[in-house]
Amino acid sequence: MKVDYIIAGQGICGTMLSYYLQKAGKQVLVIDESQPFTASRVASGVINPVTGRRVVTTWMIETLLPFCFDAYTEIGNAINESLIFKKNTITFSPSLQMDETYRKRMQETGSYIQELPDAVIWKDYFNSLFGCYLIAPTYLVNLHPLLKGWRKKLQHQQCLLEEIFIEEALSFAGNTVSYNGITADKIIFCSGITSFESAYWNKLPFVCNKGQALILDIPGLSHINMYKYGALSLVPWYDGLWWAGSSYENEFQTAEPTAVFREQLTTQLQHVLRIPFSVLDHVAAVRPATLERRPFVGLHPSDSRIGIFNGMGTKGCSLAPYFAKQFANQLVHGHLLEPLADVKRFSRVLAL
Ligand SMILES: Cc1cc2nc3c(=O)[nH]c(=O)nc-3n(C[C@H](O)[C@H](O)[C@H](O)COP(=O)(O)OP(=O)(O)OC[C@H]3O[C@@H](n4cnc5c(N)ncnc54)[C@H](O)[C@@H]3O)c2cc1C
Repeated sequence: MKVDYIIAGQGICGTMLSYYLQKAGKQVLVIDESQPFTASRVASGVINPVTGRRVVTTWMIETLLPFCFDAYTEIGNAINESLIFKKNTITFSPSLQMDETYRKRMQETGSYIQELPDAVIWKDYFNSLFGCYLIAPTYLVNLHPLLKGWRKKLQHQQCLLEEIFIEEALSFAGNTVSYNGITADKIIFCSGITSFESAYWNKLPFVCNKGQALILDIPGLSHINMYKYGALSLVPWYDGLWWAGSSYENEFQTAEPTAVFREQLTTQLQHVLRIPFSVLDHVAAVRPATLERRPFVGLHPSDSRIGIFNGMGTKGCSLAPYFAKQFANQLVHGHLLEPLADVKRFSRVLAL
């Protein structure tokens, strides 16, 4: 069997890259073992134009917001699913200091923070001592139907191998790479945190960042909005439930959910929410993050038969579609990549 590209991994990265490569008329083979707790399956799917305690504007967001809307609509049409929804986020200041930050940001030109006209009604649902504001626009991406629908399409086209990808089974000859009888021009690593252990990529400054979330039933809380209370986000989940999280752990023993997180978040929710809720599930996964918070995209500086599309950190939903298209354009048409994302910036480290 001969294809143009073998893609290891079908999270958001492998999904979007295989989509754009197929759209450009290329043959792909995606290899993905079906794992329930990957970063893309556990993520809430929010695209937020502001980030962190300092409420700063997210990198490249002016470009990414309209791009993402079109990209998810387009791939949604290909699999008959509605994948992206514009939802406002109502954000509560957890402290006076945070309140001052929101007020300051609100004054800035082109701010994504606005005064909330009907702030008072949220007081029935949330214990809010300080101000509350609107972050707009924010988007919610339904990752589960995206991953499932695209996987089904790949299966139908016989472009999916549902098994563990084993790097040691790769062999190289001339301009091609082979994997268990399949020959391709290139192999692209989209395997999330597993790529950290790859002999080709393990020198990159990856960071493993664990995130945990609780799945809640909160009868009476409308799914029209998303909510934020400091670092805590409440996001509409599937089947009328809510996703509450998450943690950002750089040090952890296992990728499994922990009792400590569950207890701490449940206590916090009891303080934050004025309405009853129940905890139905607890999920956790490790984000493939990077030290300088920029993705790793492109071909290996020492071997152009090997590529990587990874390192999306906390922003896979907004970064993956845009950089998947850039990477596909580079592979197919030789276009340049955004230098801050291009893995070529680590040429020296990777050549060692
Ligand atoms: C709790 C939490 C909340 C988050 N919330 C958001 C959010 O709201 N918005 C946002 O933008 N981002 C969010 N993120 C971050 C986002 O999930 C990641 O940036 C993104 O999912 C990374 O996608 P990926 O495709 O690189 O990796 P992954 O999703 O990990 O996908 C890698 C795939 O490769 C497969 N794989 C790995 N190794 C092998 C192998 N050897 N053989 C076969 N298959 C293999 C895995 O099974 C998986 O399917 C969140 C993450 C977490 C953990």
